[in-house]
Amino acid sequence: MDVEKLVKCLDFLPVGIILVGEDKIIRWANREAVRIWGSDNPEELQGKPCRDNFCPSDSCPILEEGQSFDRSSRILIRKDGSFVPVLKATKILDLNGERLILEAFQLVGDDLYKRYFEVVSENTGAMVLMIEKDLSISMVNSAFLEHTGYSRKELLGKPVTMLLHPEDLPVALERHKARLRGEPAPSAYEIRVITKDGRVCWALVTPTVIPQTHQTIISALNFTKEKEARDLLESIFLSAPISMWLAQDGRFRLVNPRLILNMGYSEAEFAEMHPLDLVYPEDREKVRRAAREMLKGRRTEPYEFRAVRKDGSITWDLGMVTSVTFEGRPAVLGYIMNIERQKKLQEQLALEKARAEALIENAPLLVVGLGVRSKILLFNRYAEKVTGYRSEEVLGKEWIELFIAEELREEVYEVWKQVVQRKAVVHEYENPIVTKDGSRRIIKWYNKVITEGSEFWMVLSMGEDITEIRRLEEQRQMMLEALPNPAWLISKDRKIVAQNQAAREIFKSEEGQWCWDGIWSARFLPEEQKRFYRETGHPMPGTRCIFCEADQALREGKRYKKEVEADGTFWEGWWVPVSKDFYVHYAVDITHHKRMEKELYSLSITDPLTGIYNRRYFQEKLEEEIERVRRGGGVFSVVMFDIDHFKTINDQFGHQVGDTVLKTLVKIVKDRIRRIDILARWGGEEFVLLLPNTTLENAKGLAEELRRKIETLWIPRVGKFTVSFGVTEYRPQDDPDTLVFRADAALYEAKREGRNRVRAA
Ligand code: GH3
Ligand code: MG
Ligand code: MG
Repeated sequence: MDVEKLVKCLDFLPVGIILVGEDKIIRWANREAVRIWGSDNPEELQGKPCRDNFCPSDSCPILEEGQSFDRSSRILIRKDGSFVPVLKATKILDLNGERLILEAFQLVGDDLYKRYFEVVSENTGAMVLMIEKDLSISMVNSAFLEHTGYSRKELLGKPVTMLLHPEDLPVALERHKARLRGEPAPSAYEIRVITKDGRVCWALVTPTVIPQTHQTIISALNFTKEKEARDLLESIFLSAPISMWLAQDGRFRLVNPRLILNMGYSEAEFAEMHPLDLVYPEDREKVRRAAREMLKGRRTEPYEFRAVRKDGSITWDLGMVTSVTFEGRPAVLGYIMNIERQKKLQEQLALEKARAEALIENAPLLVVGLGVRSKILLFNRYAEKVTGYRSEEVLGKEWIELFIAEELREEVYEVWKQVVQRKAVVHEYENPIVTKDGSRRIIKWYNKVITEGSEFWMVLSMGEDITEIRRLEEQRQMMLEALPNPAWLISKDRKIVAQNQAAREIFKSEEGQWCWDGIWSARFLPEEQKRFYRETGHPMPGTRCIFCEADQALREGKRYKKEVEADGTFWEGWWVPVSKDFYVHYAVDITHHKRMEKELYSLSITDPLTGIYNRRYFQEKLEEEIERVRRGGGVFSVVMFDIDHFKTINDQFGHQVGDTVLKTLVKIVKDRIRRIDILARWGGEEFVLLLPNTTLENAKGLAEELRRKIETLWIPRVGKFTVSFGVTEYRPQDDPDTLVFRADAALYEAKREGRNRVRAA
């Protein structure tokens, strides 16, 4: 033993010890020696002569007479000069080549055990108290005070019984008495201690009787927590929904009700069984190994095994063991968890996994798993088909290197980085990949980042080969773009699916809009639908423009067209079905065409010389008028008139003068007739008037008035001219020919009777 340690031990002994040299100088003193001497400075004695400081005698019987003492009564001089009696023992030592006297002494009359108590008890974590023969408390350490909440004053001299739970008192007293009588009593037992504030703590007490004094030193360990834990364990043991057992010496010692219920053995039967007896023979070796590993603390994972019930049936279970101390001896505590259900679920899961795998392998989707740096971890059959690579060729290679065209790599790397760092959740991504033969396929990817814990593991991507779709879309777009006019591909429910540049520019429509809104700004909706849309933001079912022909076109599978005028522009709208559910709508700007047509029409119905209607127009109007009167009733009349001897005017003054006469006549008639009357040139110098809502009488009156007006007219160079009139009224059964014939006949009559007159038929 080294000196240091020895010294430390000596320092804590409840015995005063000094080492003195042959020169009678104190080399070293322990704490107790210093304390008895009367100081608290452990170094104060060192270097002092023992004479007058310890020893009252001038002569030293040990050095000079070679005496040695063994527990002999001596007197010791203390620091303050007082004397105390001590029991002293001495020994001569050779230490490090020096001859030293070791003196050990105890105060006589001072209670040895009290000293022991003070020194030792304050240096342990345990609660320690000392009781006298009469059960009064004579010593108590700080730990005890701390645990119970009492002060030293409150306990010293009081009966120890005040600290004990009433229920535990009789047993405690019984044992105490037995111990005092020297009869056998348990060396340690649990007892409930009541604290100052009334709490109950469980303590493990170990009493020691000092035979000489009949004092008892009791050390107690507070184990309320352990006790609670034990109670808890007990209640878990009894009521846990899992089977538990405790085995010792290769036999079940304790089994909980659940285990009895699950296995079908009785408690007595268990008592004769080894834990491995429950295990299905084939699994025994595995369980034995796993349990051994667990007991050694080298395994924490429960082991799976089949257990055999008393009735021979087999269940799937999970087992765990741990070593414990039971009744002071090593034991094994085990748990058995039934996993029949989990096992079934697992089987089901395995089945589903197999199904999922089959799906992954056979789905018309590329299924690709990419690990760190886009390393290919998974590559399904469809991926093989689309790319032309076999999976052995690509597994472990970097996806981006292999499949992404060089000019796109940087961009794809960027996206990849973001996916991996989960900075951006790129769930959907579309990009072209380069296949083994160098061709490109466009793939639409659906990505999912799979992590293990918080670490990135892989990106699972499912890709749809949309090359054909994109090609079709492109074709469709090209088809639309090829149309020189604004064109839209519209679905049956009137959503714009695609459109061309012209549509975008001219109509500012957008894909996804309702056609009636995007193209026509809802202006052609029936009032009710328009209001509904404005108020709710949703269209009324079946909302469509007033002129829309899409339904007919789709139903009949043929094209329809209609003209639409918007803001002074005329559009010829076309509805061309392209499938059962889609049609192309396009709008041709026909404004120019429309204007020309209008012009042409008005030209076609106008007499170029006089600017009034021509005979064809008159005939159209006459037909309409006959139709109108036939349906709605009423009257109308027709007047036919012809310039008298016009040939002579032409002959005398020339054709141009003749023309002027014609124009003059037209002006006079036009000025006189109503807006609804129609004046037309019948041919040459012959004219007709259609007079709606006019009786024969009134027509005759008008003709007479005109005749007279012309008669009085004087035209430069020509002088005067006259006109003859034939008048007739509509009669039921009339057609345009019979009416005109009658008017003509009446005119002929007027001519025949001398001209410049009105005749009626
Ligand atoms: P009547 O009193 O019997 O009607 O005799 P008329 O001379 O008026 O009849 P006729 O039918 O013999 O002659 C009609 C003439 O009108 C013949 C033709 O040259 C002339 N004429 C027809 N159209 C025009 C025209 O547009 N301008 C001019 N200046 N003359 C026309
Ligand atoms: Mg004439
Ligand atoms: Mg004529």
